[in-house]
Amino acid sequence: MELKDKVALITGAAAGIGESTALLFAKEGAKVVLTDIDEENGNKVLEKIKQQGGEAIFIKADTSNPSDSQKSVEKAVEKFGKLDIAVNNAGIGGAQSPIGEYAIEDWDKVIAINLSGVFYGMRYQIPAMLKNGSGSIINVSSILGSVGFANSSAYVAAKHGLVGLTKTAALEYSSKGIRVNSVGPAFIKTSLLESLDEEMLDQLVSAHPIGRLGESLEVAQMFLWLASDRASFATGAYYPIDGGYLAQ
Ligand code: NAD
Repeated sequence: MELKDKVALITGAAAGIGESTALLFAKEGAKVVLTDIDEENGNKVLEKIKQQGGEAIFIKADTSNPSDSQKSVEKAVEKFGKLDIAVNNAGIGGAQSPIGEYAIEDWDKVIAINLSGVFYGMRYQIPAMLKNGSGSIINVSSILGSVGFANSSAYVAAKHGLVGLTKTAALEYSSKGIRVNSVGPAFIKTSLLESLDEEMLDQLVSAHPIGRLGESLEVAQMFLWLASDRASFATGAYYPIDGGYLAQ
């Protein structure tokens, strides 16, 4: 088991990539702290983990609220005694429109969840990890942390910002035992893509040289490596997992 006795906090763990990550980490022996705004589905993931013999708790928390991020870390440490791994995964797609028409409140919402939310997370996760003298933080960016995408300015800006935030955290804390990395998935089959019609989905598939969209578990496998001690020299980097999207 790759994560035996590790304590892992995963935000946005009620669905999609976060859910797959929570199930995989629990299977690999981690004690998992699931957080999400979606209490109903969060509790369903908790039940699945318990059914597979794993150990976990669910905390209702909004990552765009700093005190929720603080509370999540406090509860994780209270329940399991420490924090080893954090996957800052919660995110939204946000509104789709060109910058000249983008509603200010839509911009603010995406930045609050997808960028500030990751800062708030690390703001409280890092002091807890410093107490153990070790940790691994995985910030979920996107291929759109590296290239643009029309009509998604807030999402693209947040995901690019997150890559810089990750590099800075790595400069500050790698020598203190905390590795910090970002991951850039291409388009993955989750509810995030639900609003797209068939034609748009076909277009997206053709943008991936591998000829298909990704699965949540394929992304979770990269998180597992980064979270584990096998990735002991990996810090400050951005890891695409993208079916070749960025190779073009
Ligand atoms: P998803 O919609 O399936 O799951 C996201 C989860 O985050 C949901 O359970 C939702 O309730 C939760 N959430 C939303 N806002 C929250 C908040 N403020 N606080 C706490 N939880 C919140 O999406 P997904 O595809 O699994 O996305 C997970 C991450 O992966 C996101 O950061 C997303 O940007 C990123 N990503 C997804 C894709 C993709 O194609 N699906 C590609 C690249 C990156």
